[in-house]
Amino acid sequence: MAQKDFTITKVMTKKPKPDDQELEFGKHFTDHMFVMDYHIDKGWYDGRIIPYQPITLDPASMIFHYGQTVFEGLKAYSTSKGDVQLFRPDENIHRLNRSNERMCIPTIDFDLAMEAIKQLVSVDKDWVPKAKGTSLYIRPYIIATEPYLGVAPSKQYKFIIILSPVGAYYKEGINPVKIAVENEYIRAVEGGTGEAKTAGNYAGSLIAQEKVADDGYAQVLWLDGHEKRYIEEVGSMNVFFKINGEVITPALNGSILPGVTRKSVIDLLKSWDIPVTERRISLDEIKEAHQKGQLEEAFGSGTAAVISPIGELAFNQVHMVINDMKTGDVSKRLYDTMTQIQYGDIEDPFDWTI
Ligand code: PMP
Repeated sequence: MAQKDFTITKVMTKKPKPDDQELEFGKHFTDHMFVMDYHIDKGWYDGRIIPYQPITLDPASMIFHYGQTVFEGLKAYSTSKGDVQLFRPDENIHRLNRSNERMCIPTIDFDLAMEAIKQLVSVDKDWVPKAKGTSLYIRPYIIATEPYLGVAPSKQYKFIIILSPVGAYYKEGINPVKIAVENEYIRAVEGGTGEAKTAGNYAGSLIAQEKVADDGYAQVLWLDGHEKRYIEEVGSMNVFFKINGEVITPALNGSILPGVTRKSVIDLLKSWDIPVTERRISLDEIKEAHQKGQLEEAFGSGTAAVISPIGELAFNQVHMVINDMKTGDVSKRLYDTMTQIQYGDIEDPFDWTI
């Protein structure tokens, strides 16, 4: 039976809140957090909302040694009607549990995880910023806490949720970025952990990002680990290309993170009768389409930016400019519709928001 009667201990004194206009990503944290423990003999137990505070861990905790951990990222939005709504939290909970399975971490009852997110956001609802484009980022994560140095699944875990008010991703309007194709490092391979949202994937990707940042590239475009021919993702976003009227995104092959935004983009395009295909797509195919003048748009999709148009793809001294560095019509329409649904500015025909 799912335990949903979490104990709630509120702070005595609330922290001062940052100004909505000064918010950045992931720097400020709210007054409360959710914590729940797991022991192999008890299952998940003692779900509680407590004042935001440091956690104490044994230095032998397995998370520090073998990185057995998963995380999620989703957002709550202040609507124009004054409510707070979540965007597709069910998808994030399902993905959390798929990541758990891959990393040998015990899954969490769906309703329990949903209730934990909802109750924590409700306790800290004053922290959901209201200025245009701002939101409350929700970061659920699980860490292996058993003090043991053997390489094996931990027998103890903590499930924690923290909340962070974040600023508008685009302060001056949606803006195409430059992307460098990564031809040395690989993010993930089939059979590896790429489709799980686990820390090591991100630690391993930092070096590629560091390499290109000084040259003015926002992110790298990851290629497949076998042949370095096929497109996988851009930075921590899924990627789409519009070629000759058809929108194409790499099929989920085991090394790509199944993005919630990616899924929503596909659903929206289908609802608009814009052809959308999930399949393997090579860098050569992109180059050829560009040469023929058929590469109409390219964009990344993810919770942070929603849609991030790609204005230039660079590889081996080639600088492929896409749509004159302008935001394409489909990218713009997707961005507008998705954000209008998230902020409750239009009817949500898909029941994505709760
Ligand atoms: N790929 C990676 C590697 C990511 O970290 C993310 C962000 N979660 C995404 C894609 C986009 O996923 P979502 O749309 O669920 O944010």
